[in-house]
Amino acid sequence: KNIVVAIDGYSSCGKSTLAKALAKKLHFIYVDSGAMYRAVALYFLRNSIDVHNHEQIAEALKNIHLNFHSRDYQTHITLNGEEVSDEIRLMPVSEKVSEVSAIREVRKEMVKQQQRMGDSKNIVMDGRDIGTTVFPNASLKIFMTADPKVRAERRYKEIFDKNPDITLEEVFENIAHRDYQDTTREESPLVRAEDAIILDNTNLTPEQQLEFALEKIKP
Ligand code: C5P
Repeated sequence: KNIVVAIDGYSSCGKSTLAKALAKKLHFIYVDSGAMYRAVALYFLRNSIDVHNHEQIAEALKNIHLNFHSRDYQTHITLNGEEVSDEIRLMPVSEKVSEVSAIREVRKEMVKQQQRMGDSKNIVMDGRDIGTTVFPNASLKIFMTADPKVRAERRYKEIFDKNPDITLEEVFENIAHRDYQDTTREESPLVRAEDAIILDNTNLTPEQQLEFALEKIKP
């Protein structure tokens, strides 16, 4: 049976950093589920899809084709054949994504695609509902948290070169807002799975986090 590692948690907690390192170490496939919601949000923005119009949403979902292609464990995602990996990290998408990801039909479709990816291969997937909804039987579930100020600083450093006009306050606000939307939405809200191991990485280096996770995965 294939192995699934589920990593969930709040925004900008270092989920993808840990997930990538783990995948690399274990030779598993890394899947960034947030990139999928971001790509859908980008499509909604570009095509002015009304998030309250179910016909438009259904039509949009039929017309959205996402594909991952991995190169050195970085996320490369295409939306209808177009490489959108950079564009989905920009602020307009970050500001829209939690609204789009709260839509029931959107989640249903993404979860289906995510489950298919974990059907036969060993994967590490990070997101908000991986251990609760996508893979409730995952071999290992980690729930990540960190001090919100530390998270904002880390994210700010990471995205500053692509968003030069951004301020630390804006990043902090965006993270806080997404956490609020993600934890209060009706459809699979962000919540720790009962059997998920908590990892607060406020004071941990990426190496220490990797070590922690590898320790847990040992049979
Ligand atoms: O992981 P990332 O911060 O890129 O995710 C962007 C947004 O996508 C989250 O704020 C959340 O609204 C949504 N998301 C989700 N479920 C997931 C992954 C991401 O709702 N499994």
